[in-house]
Amino acid sequence: MTTEQSRKRLVIGNWKMHGSLAANESLLAALRQGHVHPDSCDLAVCVPFPYLAQVHRMLSGSALSWGAQDLSAQAQGAFTGEVSASMLNDFSCRFVLVGHSERRSFHGETDSVVAAKAQAALAAGLVPVVCVGETLQQQEAGETSAVIERQLAPVLALGPQAVAGMVIAYEPVWAIGTGKSATPEQAQHVHALIRAKLQQAGVPQVRVLYGGSVKAANAASLFAMPDIDGALVGGAALVAEEFLNIAAA
Ligand code: PEP
Repeated sequence: MTTEQSRKRLVIGNWKMHGSLAANESLLAALRQGHVHPDSCDLAVCVPFPYLAQVHRMLSGSALSWGAQDLSAQAQGAFTGEVSASMLNDFSCRFVLVGHSERRSFHGETDSVVAAKAQAALAAGLVPVVCVGETLQQQEAGETSAVIERQLAPVLALGPQAVAGMVIAYEPVWAIGTGKSATPEQAQHVHALIRAKLQQAGVPQVRVLYGGSVKAANAASLFAMPDIDGALVGGAALVAEEFLNIAAA
């Protein structure tokens, strides 16, 4: 099992359902050439399944890592349309997103499904990036802490050895793809809560990323917060210069 012991900065691009072989070719070449801070920041891209072969080919031997945006909780079998952890290993993936808010809302993924997916990823030696976050309605109702605790509970119940191999991403749903990031203070408040939960679970060193309209212009102020260890980046990850400037921040 991979253990994410250090809190080295980590910036992961989530391409969502964007890209083409031609567009990816130039983006990946620019990332490969432009990632000049590998000692201070780990950089990775999580791409649509059909492009895993391309990232494997283009990023092998570079300082960048790559991964997928989802996986099945099942190891193999009659699960049409699903992709297993061992299939991701065939393309040397390091990371896999689990429980992204778009999976939770459009595909009905529950907290326990998310935990089962994280467990399947760990069993195959992948690092699950477990996404949690409240909706606008939940935030306005003052339910943020309760929602985060509820989403984390089945994941933390997997035990300290498992959680040590994960990355957590706090992504307030109201900030994803809206251009309206949480302020550094708002994000830090929730990250401190997550850190306290990790501390209670005996794994304070797990990296906690912030996601939600991160761009080069706001990255440095977010990363200045004590419990923000990097970012999960959507839209800005599709523009090489912007993504690299986030990593440089
Ligand atoms: C995301 O997709 O996880 C995300 C944070 O998107 P964006 O950066 O576009 O808000």
